[in-house]
Amino acid sequence: MVKVKVSMNCPETQLNLGGIVLMKGNDFEDVPDIPEVRQAIDNGYLEVLKEERKEENKEKKEGDEVLVFAEQRNNKIARVVLELLGKAKELADKLNVKTAAVLLTDKDGGLSNELMKYGADKVYVAENDLLKNYQTDLYTKVIAEHVKETKPQIVLYGATHIGRDLAPRLAQRLNTGLTADCTGLDITEENLLLQTRPAFGGNLMAQILCAKKKPQMSTVRPGVMKMEAPSEGKGEVIKITSDISEKDQLVKVLEIIKETKKKVNLEEAEIIVSGGRGLGNKEGFKLIEELASLLNAEIGASRAVVDAGWVDKDHQVGQTGKTVRPKLYLAVGISGAIQHKAGMQGSELIIAINKDSSAPIFEVADYGIVDDLFKVIPELIEELKK
Ligand SMILES: Cc1cc2nc3c(=O)[nH]c(=O)nc-3n(C[C@H](O)[C@H](O)[C@H](O)COP(=O)(O)OP(=O)(O)OC[C@H]3O[C@@H](n4cnc5c(N)ncnc54)[C@H](O)[C@@H]3O)c2cc1C
Repeated sequence: MVKVKVSMNCPETQLNLGGIVLMKGNDFEDVPDIPEVRQAIDNGYLEVLKEERKEENKEKKEGDEVLVFAEQRNNKIARVVLELLGKAKELADKLNVKTAAVLLTDKDGGLSNELMKYGADKVYVAENDLLKNYQTDLYTKVIAEHVKETKPQIVLYGATHIGRDLAPRLAQRLNTGLTADCTGLDITEENLLLQTRPAFGGNLMAQILCAKKKPQMSTVRPGVMKMEAPSEGKGEVIKITSDISEKDQLVKVLEIIKETKKKVNLEEAEIIVSGGRGLGNKEGFKLIEELASLLNAEIGASRAVVDAGWVDKDHQVGQTGKTVRPKLYLAVGISGAIQHKAGMQGSELIIAINKDSSAPIFEVADYGIVDDLFKVIPELIEELKK
């Protein structure tokens, strides 16, 4: 129901909306939220004075869940899953349904408990030796069958290498849509999943609905959603049996070889010192490395710096790099292009150093130093060494 009044923009003195007649000059309470009324609101002919979301049943409905794919590697749940569970719970509360996670593994070993602590009301567990490590064909088969049976309204995946491989495959198998790399998720008045993501090179934010197919599916990059604090974790563990065998495996993983280079862990870093083109060249970028080491911080970089080859792509922050939320983000010689800000504006405290006082990075900075970085950073390094 909505409380509305006919707007001054409306060319008519009265509106007839599906048999409901509304006159200019009066407020109307309890107007049903029918398509004709929505259309008039969208056209600007009606002003909404108050909107009430229908309180259906206080009891959460069975079925119709918001489901999170509980990605695990080496029996460790990916951090993005815990971030997604917080968001899934928020969406599920708005829809008045349950939050669920689906875990594929060789052995649960307490993982389902962890998922419940972070918000899952139900954890569906498929245990099978063949599911120990991610394998596209098998994971697709098990999850597609599970989704067909339980019919969740929404399924969320981390936009990790695994999530990016699995989710499109499932979208095809389930004949539904998928929005990749969402930066915002919400529920519309029509109880649809409102998926927000940057489009056209990050110059605008697109809002996407999957109105005709279920489940509605999104991937979200690590670090985008805030991880909620764990609770005591109550819920239900439901075993799912999966009819899989080696013959379902089109590709066989023979061996897993761990990368030996030092892992850049920007998403979990508490302090990031990030450098941009203002550092001039690869030699100049060494100032960032020195400062980061003194602060026990990870090294971040703008894409300009990565493209110039001063530092590895793993360090890139932004729309086509990593999304980070450290306690402190120090942006040095970075202009603050929209694509860079998209990856770091969720940081708790942002300090920017730039000689140009009109640089867009200052729009998101909590503290700004307008000066030559080659003066500021060496002084800072000297102080920290004392
Ligand atoms: C599709 C697409 C995706 C993109 N994805 C990303 C992404 O993920 N991450 C990303 O970072 N960019 C991304 N970009 C690029 C982005 O648009 C910018 O080009 C880039 O972020 C600029 O990097 P920068 O700030 O280091 O360089 P610049 O924009 O050149 O800024 C350098 C800054 O340094 C300052 N400066 C110079 N000398 C000094 C000095 N001595 N002391 C102090 N300050 C100084 C200047 O005032 C300037 O503000 C993307 C672009 C596109 C089109």
